[in-house]
Amino acid sequence: HWSLANFDIGRPLGKGHFGKVYLARVKSKTDPFILVLKCLSKDEVITKEVQIQVRREIEVMQQLRHPNIIRLYGWFHDSTRIFLMLELAGKGELFKQLAKKGRFSERRSSQYIRQVASGLTYLHSKQIIHRDIKPENLLLGMNGEIKIGDFGWSVYSPEENSQRTLAGTLSYVSPEMVLGQSYGKAVDIWALGVLAYELTCGAEPFGADTCSGPRLVHQRICRCDVHFPSFLSVEAREFIQSLLRLKPEERLPLDQVDQQPWILNHL
Ligand code: ADP
Ligand code: MG
Ligand code: MG
Repeated sequence: HWSLANFDIGRPLGKGHFGKVYLARVKSKTDPFILVLKCLSKDEVITKEVQIQVRREIEVMQQLRHPNIIRLYGWFHDSTRIFLMLELAGKGELFKQLAKKGRFSERRSSQYIRQVASGLTYLHSKQIIHRDIKPENLLLGMNGEIKIGDFGWSVYSPEENSQRTLAGTLSYVSPEMVLGQSYGKAVDIWALGVLAYELTCGAEPFGADTCSGPRLVHQRICRCDVHFPSFLSVEAREFIQSLLRLKPEERLPLDQVDQQPWILNHL
């Protein structure tokens, strides 16, 4: 029952693959609610054959209620566009903060990682794999808290190790995905390890930002060829190493993240 006529549209907050994302306010004297409208152009969604992804993004997000996950309030469409009504993450992309700072302190990084792990634990308990955890898709709420967003690559996967699609972003993909093996929830745990490295070290562990090209990045991922800078604490390195394990079943279970020394040291 929603339409564009129900909203005042504000400034653009970001750019997605299939359209822009705007700040918006519900036209109402009693409850002028502030939210975000993510617009997707139907033309582009159809030509890029991503209808299934958009449907998943909506179906998955609608059932989620967690402080570290962006809420989807509803959706509607007109003749040319689909609109997702999203919870506002007032402080924007984690990526932008990281670009500004270069890297974060271990305290700040560990607090972000604990919150991402909490959101992922909840997702996995609902048998959902996110598959695109990276700083661009992690948003910050008004109090600087993590809000996991962009569920376009997410998938409902009740059967363990049943997925095969190569999903997500080059430098965050797991070895089992690169090798074309079937995979499961542990791909998000690997991505959490890549994220922890990037936040604390200010660079990607498998070096997509050096001019190495995708083949070399993939090679390094499959060998887990990662080097740690000397400024990093032993606890941080051991934590990251416990996530970046080649064998999915050896990766640290997410419900144990909270008990790790690196996390406990910075509570
Ligand atoms: P895509 O699926 O095309 O990558 P995203 O969902 O990642 O689109 O949205 C694109 C960008 O819009 C994000 O990187 C972010 O900058 C901004 N954005 C998206 N959702 C929100 C939100 N709920 N609050 C604030 N900014 C958002
Ligand atoms: Mg995105
Ligand atoms: Mg997306």
